[in-house]
Amino acid sequence: MEYTTNYLKMSRVELLERVQMQMGERRFKHVLGVEEMAIALAGRYEADIEAASIAALTHDYAKERDRDEMQELIRKEGFDLDLLNYGSEIWHGPVGAFLVQKELGVQDDLILDAIRKHTVGASEMTLLDKIIYVADFIEPNRDFPGVAEAREIAIRNLDEAVAFETKHTLHYLIEKNTKIYPQTIATYNTWVAKS
Ligand code: GDP
Ligand code: FE
Ligand code: FE
Ligand code: FE
Repeated sequence: MEYTTNYLKMSRVELLERVQMQMGERRFKHVLGVEEMAIALAGRYEADIEAASIAALTHDYAKERDRDEMQELIRKEGFDLDLLNYGSEIWHGPVGAFLVQKELGVQDDLILDAIRKHTVGASEMTLLDKIIYVADFIEPNRDFPGVAEAREIAIRNLDEAVAFETKHTLHYLIEKNTKIYPQTIATYNTWVAKS
């Protein structure tokens, strides 16, 4: 795929190289799987294919950054400081959006928001937010009980796929007695809980 819009000042091949430099082989393979799934969902739900590709390729850009570096950025760059009270696994979304803007020059807020929200979701999610959130969960390399059902739901109804994934994630976090970030609960209340 050749990029034809102005979201990026580099080609897709150059973006792939920049992303690959940030992570190990296994995670890079995951990222390519998320792109494949995000493009398929963008086709299915008539979203911007190129934005889906870029958001997917960059969604885990900060995932393997040093924990101390992320903590420093959260302190100094005006992030929600409450992030620091929860597991560092949730930091790479917001920090990733910041670094993708700063280091790769992506300025599009729809793309940056999708990166920002991809781990915990949000009460308000755009079509692209939902596509990245769901594609991350069901990409071809993922294998866990329930992934086949999640894939079926994703083809049928994207909002239901968001709900299914959110419930699954919360279930998993509760099972492990993990601290739950308030935005994760907000996502649950909006997309899963009955009004
Ligand atoms: P990945 O980056 O492709 O591995 O996937 P995600 O970005 O979606 O998730 C990263 C990790 O964050 C997963 O292990 C989730 O279970 C975890 N996570 C999601 N929500 C929360 C939360 O509210 N609190 C904590 N502590 N972890 C969470
Ligand atoms: Fe992630
Ligand atoms: Fe996810
Ligand atoms: Fe991911």
